[in-house]
Amino acid sequence: MTTIVIVGGGYAGLRAARKLASARTGAHVILVNENPYHYQSTQLHQLAAGTKEAVDIAFPITDALPRGVECVIDRVERIDRAKKRVELANRKPIAYDYLLNALGFESESYGIEGVEANSLPLVNVQTALAVRQHVEEMLGRYHSSQDARDLSIVVCGAGFTSIEYMGELVHQLPKLAKLYRFPVDSVKISCIEAADKILPMFDPKLADWAKSYLVKHGVNFYTSTPITAIQPNRVISKDRVFEAHSIIWTTGVKGSAVIPASGYESKRNRVLVQDDLSVKGNPEEFLIGDVSAVTDPQSGRLYPTTAQISIAQADCAASNVAARLAGRPSQKFAFKGLGTVCSLGPFSGVAQINVMGQWKLKGLKVGAVKKIVNDRSVLELADVKTMLESN
Ligand code: NAD
Repeated sequence: MTTIVIVGGGYAGLRAARKLASARTGAHVILVNENPYHYQSTQLHQLAAGTKEAVDIAFPITDALPRGVECVIDRVERIDRAKKRVELANRKPIAYDYLLNALGFESESYGIEGVEANSLPLVNVQTALAVRQHVEEMLGRYHSSQDARDLSIVVCGAGFTSIEYMGELVHQLPKLAKLYRFPVDSVKISCIEAADKILPMFDPKLADWAKSYLVKHGVNFYTSTPITAIQPNRVISKDRVFEAHSIIWTTGVKGSAVIPASGYESKRNRVLVQDDLSVKGNPEEFLIGDVSAVTDPQSGRLYPTTAQISIAQADCAASNVAARLAGRPSQKFAFKGLGTVCSLGPFSGVAQINVMGQWKLKGLKVGAVKKIVNDRSVLELADVKTMLESN
């Protein structure tokens, strides 16, 4: 019997499992994931700020997997591509005829000195919980320490994760101030960004609106300020040093470390795949989600890494595997984004929507849009019950 192995249970992997099950290929489908749960990575900022709990943004993988898909919970260490098998941390390797690699992303330090040792990444459930615990511990300590650095938080980078985290944090701060008895007006949040603007993927007017929203809520922005090193409790740029007891590293991501460990040629652990999402020279391998890099034929540039694209890639790769098994030709990946939403706390945000025209939204209505987007992505991966439970 043909075996199709999907590695990774994020947006791309989970969606691919569902699509392959509904394609009724007759193959044995196995999904391997490190954790027994899937988490909505687009909601990690809420977990980090304490406005949501892990159970609100995650659900058991087995609840979402269709009948007939085998689930293996283990850590993928490496793909032995010559022997066509997936090597695991705790079990025997699993042999495959087709592989869908959806191992997702990790924090990117760009080799900057001291990042791993002295700052906190925000890339999965564990790291988001660690951010929450650390920031609350520092804020709570101020009452007895009276050390201003306990109230100083530096957020590195001004991309999606950073902006959404700060939006959530400024919403939560008054509640935390009451609980831990610190003066909320003395909290110093500094956002340090290498580029000359924040949220570069957004319309400049929307990005400016998001910036002024956060400034109004006490955030200080330092743009055109590349970080060159992180020392204990200090963020170093060319001509400034920022002192803080909480340093959050949100300057971008790279693909899984399994990519270089498996001998793929890659850039930031993302492999340039062919237009049907398979790997050149290895037609049995498909890469989807953040481990893949796909050229947008219209712009000639790489598609960005988003949950929406991961889900679309999963649909394409799953139907291409089914086509191969049925002796049909594979399809090219094509994607038209529905838009982008960046939340600013639970109720506000900025959004560019491409549904029935182009819409640029800001303020309270974006909270409702974000909820629709989150609900929709749970529906695409699981079912109505899971969607209702994850609210
Ligand atoms: P990002 O690439 O969106 O932003 C990182 C920012 O850090 C950039 O603005 C970059 O200029 C800056 N930076 C990099 N190196 C720096 C340095 N040395 N000093 C100072 N600034 C530096 O990355 P992210 O926010 O981590 O998001 C990761 C991925 O996940 C992105 O592809 C993003 O689109 C996606 N994401 C999407 C959503 C959403 O759709 N709502 C939410 C979160 C993340």
